[in-house]
Amino acid sequence: MKIFKNPGSFQKYCLSVKKKGTVGFVPTMGCLHEGHLSLIRKSKKTCNKTVVSIFVNPIQFGPKEDFHRYPRPLKNDLSLCRREKADAVFIPENKGFYGDDFSIHIQETRLSSGFCGEFRPGHFSGVLTVVAKLLNCSQPDYVFMGQKDYQQCLVIRRLMQNLNFPVTLMMCPTVREKSGLAMSSRNQYLSPTEKKDAALIHQALRKTQHSYRQQTAKFRGKKWKQLRNDLRSMLRRINNFVPQYVEIVNAETLEKPDNKTEKTVALIAGFLGKTRLIDNIIL
Ligand code: AMP
Repeated sequence: MKIFKNPGSFQKYCLSVKKKGTVGFVPTMGCLHEGHLSLIRKSKKTCNKTVVSIFVNPIQFGPKEDFHRYPRPLKNDLSLCRREKADAVFIPENKGFYGDDFSIHIQETRLSSGFCGEFRPGHFSGVLTVVAKLLNCSQPDYVFMGQKDYQQCLVIRRLMQNLNFPVTLMMCPTVREKSGLAMSSRNQYLSPTEKKDAALIHQALRKTQHSYRQQTAKFRGKKWKQLRNDLRSMLRRINNFVPQYVEIVNAETLEKPDNKTEKTVALIAGFLGKTRLIDNIIL
């Protein structure tokens, strides 16, 4: 497995392997878990070569967020990538990646204004900017991302469509603990009791999905508000969980659903104690 720190050398490598076959790219912030590994496996099945990036991107964190304490177990991450037979890992250094002259920031103005965008100002601009850089370095045919970050997937897909990146985004299913808790590098911050409580978030989403599916198509448009309110009440009953947003929206546009909406998604974010958690479910 090749390891690159220099963006230029990584790009050169990716361009050369692309001549011989397809390249799949898995961008991560490290502290890899089964969710990340599922993306690497999917890429390996789909593409001839798989490249992974590990980079805790400073410009997507707010000033009061956890950039400095974000876990960085690099040695273990590299051995997991090796075990999964990734072909190359890119670990840029902050300074080499964002030079002193760095002055371009990408903004998306529709899909990213609500939800996480509302509660994390500047977050999606930071994500889009780093993803554009990483896509230019890795020149992939496919990029593999998790449904866990549903809004992020839509925003990045829009980036790729609007700015004509010749890349296909593959949104892969959320990998969960046995309890239903969506795996996340930030789950390390949770105490055992908090972990148990956090599992109730997925249970509430599953109940909402079940109720939705029991309704006839005819009534769906009218009942989504009731479903959302029921979901909010279930979440309010979870110890120490303080929701930021709980919404049911059109899964393509993230706007309010109506009678014609075919696919809806329930989106949740909130703090369990000091840890911010997000989750979602397609209804
Ligand atoms: P992160 O390291 O948190 O920035 O995540 C890197 C990629 O892994 C993103 O595309 C995430 O959506 C994806 N990811 C994170 N957690 C999971 C999970 N539990 N299941 C599937 N994909 C995930």
